[in-house]
Amino acid sequence: MTIYGKCKYCGNPRIVEGADGSEPQNIRDEWATEQCDCNGAETARKRAADRKTAEAYIDDLVDKEDVAAELKHFIPLLQECKIDGITVKINEKTKITLATKTSGALKVARVDTLKTEYENE
Ligand SMILES: [Zn+2]
Repeated sequence: MTIYGKCKYCGNPRIVEGADGSEPQNIRDEWATEQCDCNGAETARKRAADRKTAEAYIDDLVDKEDVAAELKHFIPLLQECKIDGITVKINEKTKITLATKTSGALKVARVDTLKTEYENE
């Protein structure tokens, strides 16, 4: 039995290798989309890979797990160009910035400010 899935971007049907017919249609469509080489599917794959990389950068730069999880929610907004960037002040010294470069690549930056100050009371 040949089982088809449809790419969710271009709608082209593709044979789903290894499918036995018990899979729900949305899973078959997911597989077909993963195999498709249309622009939409390729852009989606690139975005997913970029997102994973940016998430790893966030995990690397942010020590608080809950803060890192919240920051990751902004990645799709950046990728869809709904926001240009976001800066979060973690504490007096540390800021995390997520931004999109002109190439469309995501950038994650951590700035730690070292300030020495003497003050007379
Ligand atoms: Zn496609």
